[in-house]
Amino acid sequence: MSGSLRILIAGGGIGGLTAALALQQLGHRVRVFERARVLGEVGAGLTLTPNATRVLQALGLWPALRPTLVLPECSELRDGRSGRRLAVRELGEPLAARYGADYCHVHRADLHGCLVEALKARAPDALSLDDAFIALERNDTDGVRVRLARSGSVEGDVLIGADGLRSTVRTALFGPAETRFAGYVAWRGLAPMQALPATLREVPACMTIGPRNLLLRYPVSAGRLMNVACMGRSEHWAEESWSVPATHAELLEQLEGWHEDAAILVRAIPAEALFKWGLFERELLAQWHHESSALLGDAAHPMLPFLGQGAVMAIEDAVVLARAFAETATPAAALACYTAARLARGNEVTRLSAENGHALVPRDESEFQPGSHSSAATLGLIAYDPLNVRLPVAGAVTRGAA
Ligand SMILES: Cc1cc2nc3c(=O)[nH]c(=O)nc-3n(C[C@H](O)[C@H](O)[C@H](O)COP(=O)(O)OP(=O)(O)OC[C@H]3O[C@@H](n4cnc5c(N)ncnc54)[C@H](O)[C@@H]3O)c2cc1C
Repeated sequence: MSGSLRILIAGGGIGGLTAALALQQLGHRVRVFERARVLGEVGAGLTLTPNATRVLQALGLWPALRPTLVLPECSELRDGRSGRRLAVRELGEPLAARYGADYCHVHRADLHGCLVEALKARAPDALSLDDAFIALERNDTDGVRVRLARSGSVEGDVLIGADGLRSTVRTALFGPAETRFAGYVAWRGLAPMQALPATLREVPACMTIGPRNLLLRYPVSAGRLMNVACMGRSEHWAEESWSVPATHAELLEQLEGWHEDAAILVRAIPAEALFKWGLFERELLAQWHHESSALLGDAAHPMLPFLGQGAVMAIEDAVVLARAFAETATPAAALACYTAARLARGNEVTRLSAENGHALVPRDESEFQPGSHSSAATLGLIAYDPLNVRLPVAGAVTRGAA
């Protein structure tokens, strides 16, 4: 199908904006409706593996994004209590040569800002802020009509729900999802790099494991900031929001008995920049599209963060969705093709992420087996190429780029 369909996207996060850029590149008229009044992202880092960075390159975002990134040479695995090094993983050039794209660390705000600027440049009126998706007024084979907080009723050929974990589009299509506290609380913060001792800066990317906790650190924003994230077992429910303030004291208590490096790292985070949130699980969906609407990213497959693939999957979804429109004859065929191409992978990575949580953050000492966990690389997930993977369309021609 060649452009130009009217494609409405609810949610201007990483998945929604990537989809907008990939669809716009094919000549479709995209409009992105974002609930937030002001654009921005939380202060946290992301690891992007080659299955996502190849997409960002194909969308022409690399020149703007590259100066903000950190491309680590290696990362370490350490024992949380002794601080002892357990393993070193080679990244950098060898990994990039093997997969044909880089492995990198990025500040969420740097990535989001780059996606926003690209969309503003290529489709100046596409992004509408303070404009939450409220309801689906019509959804049939001829198209959709949605109700939005600011724009009112808007008609389109297709609606894409990219509105995150607590997706309103998902509820409108498939009913409310049951949520279950997964038994983990996550803390996040960014520490100025110069506040850290040389020992922590020398090999800045490090995952530290032990019973009940996983502590991650890696540099973002061209190395100016150290991203710190701790995922800890907790019997106590915590809010599923990224912006609940936390204290140094509670995180230090969670990490009691850990090597002194953990406390040094935690104390380097400015008090006002430490946050926590509860991790929740939802039932996997058996379908991602209905009539002229479909889900993408966390809205389709909200996953626990134990493989670091949530945003990467949203980026994969976005480009496969755009390719599905290019390689089929009707919107209905495109959404069916997209779901057939992506649902099994999205659900499988969600399941594997939950499983890896048990291996990475055991409940107690008796379950602690260093080295028993997986990674996106050891599971072969990062070899997936969303730009070229064969789509399940009868007679489809596989293209080289979105
Ligand atoms: C601790 C932690 C670490 C992580 N680390 C990694 C990592 O290293 N690598 C990785 O790939 N992933 C990681 N992730 C996962 C990643 O953050 C998410 O999977 C990713 O942000 C999903 O993108 P999205 O666009 O689907 O949703 P979001 O980024 O949540 O965007 C959704 C957007 O929709 C908007 N919205 C919500 N409701 C509405 C509405 N009704 N109408 C309009 N707009 C709406 C929101 O304001 C938001 O802008 C991590 C997650 C956690 C919790």
